[in-house]
Amino acid sequence: MNSSKKEVIKFAKMLNDKKLSALRSGNISLRYKNGFLITPSGQKYSSLKEKDIVYINLNGEYDENQKPSSEWRFHQDIYNSKKNAKAIVHSHSTNATALSTHNKKIPSFHYMVALAGGTDIKCAKYATYGTRELSKNILKALTNRSACLIANHGQIAFGRNLADAFELAEEVDNLAKQYIKSLVLGRPKLLSLNQMKKVLSKSKTYKRD
Ligand SMILES: [Zn+2]
Repeated sequence: MNSSKKEVIKFAKMLNDKKLSALRSGNISLRYKNGFLITPSGQKYSSLKEKDIVYINLNGEYDENQKPSSEWRFHQDIYNSKKNAKAIVHSHSTNATALSTHNKKIPSFHYMVALAGGTDIKCAKYATYGTRELSKNILKALTNRSACLIANHGQIAFGRNLADAFELAEEVDNLAKQYIKSLVLGRPKLLSLNQMKKVLSKSKTYKRD
């Protein structure tokens, strides 16, 4: 378990270092045995120790002496509903969050949107953080996708491992930044469904390699 905890700590610190999420915001988890390891509630990432990382099983049970991130429920629900989710990165990254406050999805303004698995990156409906209601909204936005924005909150990305999920989270923020810039000049020209389908079939082959 220790090497997995170290991995969670390494990527939690990267949330700060790569400016994906400031101070204590955001959280990170890694599928482990019949559950997952997740960052704790209200602790600065720079001070994280292995003992602070909380194991939660897929039924949502954990050692009551520990304090997991208050947002652990959507991690549990994602691991329960998506077999291919091995790691999750949730962040309040600046550009994705800015876009989420307009409850806007990222449309097919750039072919890289396909990285999240579809023709757009959806924005989950707002609900109070840490609630099952928010979890439900997130799962809906993640249908056939591995990333989404969360209205008036931030973004979430999952992957085969933490490096994969982290890279996708960075890309989502980058796409949000580019999309916001493109809106300054008016409405950008979007790629057609047909054009996006070609990209999606290419990226599936790429991922298999
Ligand atoms: Zn959050």
